[in-house]
Amino acid sequence: MIALPDDSALLLDFDGTLIDIAATPQAVAVPPTLPPVLRAIRDRLGGALAIVTGRPVESIEAMLPDVATAIAGEHGGAIRFLPGGPLERVDLPDLPPAWVDAGERAVAEHPGTLFERKARGFALHYRQAPAARDAMARAARAIVGTAETHFVLGGLMVWEIKPRGADKGTAVAAIMARAPFAGRTPVYVGDDVTDLDGFREARALGGLGLQVQELFGDAAGVRAWLAELAGP
Ligand SMILES: [Mg+2]
Repeated sequence: MIALPDDSALLLDFDGTLIDIAATPQAVAVPPTLPPVLRAIRDRLGGALAIVTGRPVESIEAMLPDVATAIAGEHGGAIRFLPGGPLERVDLPDLPPAWVDAGERAVAEHPGTLFERKARGFALHYRQAPAARDAMARAARAIVGTAETHFVLGGLMVWEIKPRGADKGTAVAAIMARAPFAGRTPVYVGDDVTDLDGFREARALGGLGLQVQELFGDAAGVRAWLAELAGP
């Protein structure tokens, strides 16, 4: 088992890391055993447990109440450093409204694909229409065109249009600079290409980046590891 020393800080991605990927982002289910396990680990680490996700911060607060001390949402675009504290937003470029229309049109042309609006961008999901992968990629690239404010990022069965200026690595750096995380060794766990920035930053701070598929197999494997860490 991978050990987690008491002077660690644990930073966890959500979808595909703690929770099994579902057909749609809304359809995920949090196993009832997970929140108490995470609370036990948080308390052992002096509170140094964070969730770092592409979802909005509020969505994590609703699904994992009273679990994480810090929550970074929107791929680093918004961070709540302490429970009940202010939501701190990184100043990011706005999304041109015409791009939203174009994204919705692209999805309408390919049955089974799904448009998901994010705070400063959007995602084109093709999990239920794998054949639309390339068409969705072309649409996303055409929408961004030569704009330097945003970029297209490929994830698991999704293309995402994201603003430049924040990622999961900048989120890890910001969280690790504050109490109760500062001075601890970061251990970042993630499953997706967006987590590579988190791995890089955790390693730069002397910690670990743990890739889910490589080390745990899947989210159920991560949950089993966490349950062992939490103890009886
Ligand atoms: Mg993930």
